[in-house]
Amino acid sequence: MRAFIKMLFISIVALFVFIPSALADNSVTRVDGKTRYSTAVNAAKKGWTTANTVVLVGKTAYADALSSVPFAKQKDAPVLYTNKDNLSPETKSGLKSLKTKKVIIIGGQSNISNKVANQLKSMGISVSRIAGKTRYDTATLIAKQMKITNVAIVANGFAYADTVAISPYAAKMGYPILLTNSKGLQSVTASYLKNRGIKQTIVIGGESRVNKATFNKLPSPTRVGGATRYDTAANVVRKYNMSTNNTFISNGFAYADSVSGASLAAKQGKAFIFTNDKSLPTPTRKIIGEKKITRFSAIGGTTVISSNVLSQLKNPVVGKKVFIDPGHGAHDAGAIGYGLLEKNVNLDVSKRLNSKLINAGALTSLSRTKDTYDTLEQRVIKGANAKADIFISVHANSNDNSSANGTETYYDKTYAATNSLKLAQNIQPKMVSALGTRDRGVKIAGFYVIKKSKMPSVLLETGFVSSPVDSNILKSATYKDRLASGIASGVSGYFK
Ligand SMILES: [Zn+2]
Repeated sequence: MRAFIKMLFISIVALFVFIPSALADNSVTRVDGKTRYSTAVNAAKKGWTTANTVVLVGKTAYADALSSVPFAKQKDAPVLYTNKDNLSPETKSGLKSLKTKKVIIIGGQSNISNKVANQLKSMGISVSRIAGKTRYDTATLIAKQMKITNVAIVANGFAYADTVAISPYAAKMGYPILLTNSKGLQSVTASYLKNRGIKQTIVIGGESRVNKATFNKLPSPTRVGGATRYDTAANVVRKYNMSTNNTFISNGFAYADSVSGASLAAKQGKAFIFTNDKSLPTPTRKIIGEKKITRFSAIGGTTVISSNVLSQLKNPVVGKKVFIDPGHGAHDAGAIGYGLLEKNVNLDVSKRLNSKLINAGALTSLSRTKDTYDTLEQRVIKGANAKADIFISVHANSNDNSSANGTETYYDKTYAATNSLKLAQNIQPKMVSALGTRDRGVKIAGFYVIKKSKMPSVLLETGFVSSPVDSNILKSATYKDRLASGIASGVSGYFK
């Protein structure tokens, strides 16, 4: 009996746990702090309850910070920051709560002075330092402290975003990160590669970062790059198939938070991608869509990752490809009534829908953006070429009887019937509540564009241009905007 009650209890808990997650927004956790010091400490606390060893870098010594991530991973150490001459109070209390016994300072006295080293010692912490004359020396000295491996990463020591992007993977594999510049390979780096018997190198960044001549001097080099830092980070995730079940995201222009995030991503063996402060960049949306990422840890406060970016990450439409087909166009006006041409209503609503979806984090394309004409077949081909996840054809209705009015959504059963129905059922009630029109429901009809499109597809009849009631609504910019928001929210609901 007690076992039965226990089972019952577990089932009820499972029910509560399971049902909301089946119909939920994406999960996003922000890891931040008032300063780079406290963000780093808070990130460390997400990965470590205690950290015997901590790697400490100067607050603006980004080159040192970059090479330190794979090394820190091998020491099972988080990366924290400090001021040059005074151990930052946030870091000090972080070291206490992590019960740290050993600090490895990266970089020379110009970044972290011996005053800080002495402050650490007075806390009962043992201190060592890895410092070279240049960033190239320091990177090599760090690499020498790592376990022997056949592979090394070569990155531009002035292009921190590329290096941060590869560092969780480098850490996972135990590969050191060596630095170069856009001009050529430093002798210290060349001799490290030779003396350590490195057989293979991964070059991060395009030719403007690590040029061809340098590339050709390296043992069996492979290049991972991209048009932008967002692409490079996404390409690392793609190429090395990093685990995306909790993906770390930081601002690609905020190196300190990015390194803190990379250090934690390295600890957890997770993928790492970039955003800017305002809105998710297209390459980042693409990798999110491709990998179907639904869990994120965002590193940094609202100044580096705005609440808008967080909303986009939370929205299940993020990274999804939506194809919008404004019905009719040019010589084909569609339905006509009360001074309205259907083609114009459709285009107006579609453009508004497009911007709502882009703001929400989706990737969109339209069959037309102007008063032009495509055949129905061309529209279907465009949708297929866009490799769209869903297809939405926007129309307005008409009837000889002016009393006919209301809003309806059509789907077809030829392809993706279940999901087409689901899409229709998500959009229809949102259109009705946005417009206050009569609910004519979800219907089945073999309209060409939804019959031939293989992805889930719907055709929306937003209202009747032949109705005095509906036509007034469709003339109103306010209502068309509400309609677009309604459709967009229906689309998000579909992807939940
Ligand atoms: Zn139409």
